[in-house]
Amino acid sequence: MKNVVEVLGNNQGHWVGDGFPVRSLFSYHRHAQEVSPFLLLDYAGPRNFEPNDAAPRGVGSHPHRGFETVTIVYDGEVSHADSAGGGGTIGRGEVQWMTAGAGVVHEEFHSRGFSKAGGPFRMVQLWVNLPAKDKLSSPAYQAITAQSIPEVAFAGGSARVIAGSFRGTQGPARTFTPVNLWDMTLEADADVTLDLPSGHTVLVAVLSGHVTIAGEGLGDAQVARLSLDGASVALHADGEAKVLVLTGEPIDEPVVGHGPFVMNSEAEIHQAIDDFNAGRFGAIAA
Ligand code: MN
Repeated sequence: MKNVVEVLGNNQGHWVGDGFPVRSLFSYHRHAQEVSPFLLLDYAGPRNFEPNDAAPRGVGSHPHRGFETVTIVYDGEVSHADSAGGGGTIGRGEVQWMTAGAGVVHEEFHSRGFSKAGGPFRMVQLWVNLPAKDKLSSPAYQAITAQSIPEVAFAGGSARVIAGSFRGTQGPARTFTPVNLWDMTLEADADVTLDLPSGHTVLVAVLSGHVTIAGEGLGDAQVARLSLDGASVALHADGEAKVLVLTGEPIDEPVVGHGPFVMNSEAEIHQAIDDFNAGRFGAIAA
């Protein structure tokens, strides 16, 4: 059995732009190898937004290089546009898996419709690192619809399989390194044993409710980091709960990050800043 090595989480929120009230549940800035291949997990909301007739809230044009961003929308809608000519709206239950690779410039805002109507807002953004050989790959998007995400029911709950596989069911996301991403709902008093790949980093994020993980009690916006060894973990939901399970094969390479760039060396960070300032990332089409 795996055990809980540490409990991560952060209740001190900050705003990303004026649209996303975020708590960073873990970050590579604190310890990169322990969470590899993941870099950070931002939990935006839950929060209720009033109807807004002004320009939609959000975060304007900004770059990324060297990793992937995975946006999961639970409530509300997020619209995006980018320098590769892509754009669209991520709705409730949908996932956007963006490979920044060599570099994108994009913007992320509440959709016009959600902004005008207001209402509950809740999303997660996960950053997944790329191995050195893929850091400068072409930018790409996977727009993953709710219908394309299989849901596996089990005694005590269900799991939407976004990436990897869960009890033999394969998720739709293409990944550069082995990753599982399961979006789980647990019923009150559920007892669930999860089989997990040995040698993978495993992070279990409690988004809502209270869950006992390998004997350790966690509340909402807390993350259990599990031991590398062991092949399973026992969960008990003390009430109804939403849990996001991340597992991934660690990438054994240096992690050097600066804001929206995550590379392997300081020189590569300076190159990223130079390339962005020189306009080599392109721009969002007007
Ligand atoms: Mn971004």
